[in-house]
Amino acid sequence: MNSDIIPFNRPYLTGKELSNISQAYSNSQLAGDGPFSRRCHQWLQKQTGSKSALLTHSCTAALEMAALLLDICPGDEIIMPSYTFVSTANAFVLRGGVPVFVDIRYDTLNINEQLIEVAITSRTKAIVAVHYAGVACEMDSILAVAKRHSVRVVEDAAQGVMARYKGRPLGSLGDLGAYSFHETKNVISGEGGCLLVNNPEWVTRAEILRQKGTDRSRFDRGEVDRYTWRDMGSSFLPGELTAAFLWAQLEEADQITRERVKIWRRYQDLTLTWEEKGVLRRPVVPQDCQHNGHTFFVLLPDGVDRKMVIKGLSDERINAIFHFVPLHSSPYGKARGRTSGPMTNTENLSLRIIRLPLWIGMTNDQQTRVVETLGNMLTRR
Ligand SMILES: *Cc1c(COP(=O)(O)O)cnc(C)c1O
Repeated sequence: MNSDIIPFNRPYLTGKELSNISQAYSNSQLAGDGPFSRRCHQWLQKQTGSKSALLTHSCTAALEMAALLLDICPGDEIIMPSYTFVSTANAFVLRGGVPVFVDIRYDTLNINEQLIEVAITSRTKAIVAVHYAGVACEMDSILAVAKRHSVRVVEDAAQGVMARYKGRPLGSLGDLGAYSFHETKNVISGEGGCLLVNNPEWVTRAEILRQKGTDRSRFDRGEVDRYTWRDMGSSFLPGELTAAFLWAQLEEADQITRERVKIWRRYQDLTLTWEEKGVLRRPVVPQDCQHNGHTFFVLLPDGVDRKMVIKGLSDERINAIFHFVPLHSSPYGKARGRTSGPMTNTENLSLRIIRLPLWIGMTNDQQTRVVETLGNMLTRR
């Protein structure tokens, strides 16, 4: 049977989500920061070694909290790749910040750390390192540049849950890190995210911003006898039902990662002969990076009509998709941001990338079918 549809993504469920939700229902605490949220916080703190891990309703919300903690003011510049999701930039634009886009590396599609220093001006407040496909940016260089110029580092580790750089968890290396638990990521709760606070300076303020600008978190721990308005803020926390769902996933985060990496490696093996034939390029993972199997992509040769390839795969009932439209070329990115230097790799690679289906439960036969169909199509062209 070769005709079943191979979807791009199928959210993985551990099987414990509903019983956790039903337990949260019986606990009758449905607002945020109940027992399941606390379990998630403790687990994430232990896993990452961060000073504080705070669940948010999305990675977007965690990035917005980062912009608040950084006190981004109109005109402040934030260095980031253009090849990223809109929230990386939007979180800062909401505060009047100006995204300064830097080109990406040819191998990992991550921000080119060697181009960051020339992009720094007197207005630069922070560098955002986006770990694309769960493969770490060159963090040692990025942290060193940031230190030389006294700017902060925020990790957009939306795709980097359970991945590491030189043995250290992504999200725990910069001043702040942001995770996503969106259903398209590895560990999920529908919508969901987490802010990792690594800089001790911000642990208390992060709690306050997240709880509508109040010291409610301290009140919940019995540290103060009432809570009051302390600072600006908003409601960034998820409800307890979301945390209950997430807890079922975090408990299996190791297995989920192992399983995805296994599928990822198999793709890497299956695509080797096609790379040798020159019809595609496989992903590159530097020695220092332990990735999490978030995404498997291939890069088509220059000049291949990607739309036709995606259509061709779709005709064979395989759903493969492209990825980010570079922000510097988008209408709002042009209006609110600027580039630093040429965007050669960003423009070239963003047009050549195709992400292949990758989900837990995919069979070897399905993976073979994806790669054979793609390889044959690219050879025939
Ligand atoms: C998914 C993603 C986000 C946004 O995550 P949400 O949880 O949906 O807000 C931000 N940045 C990157 C790089 C992402 O891949």
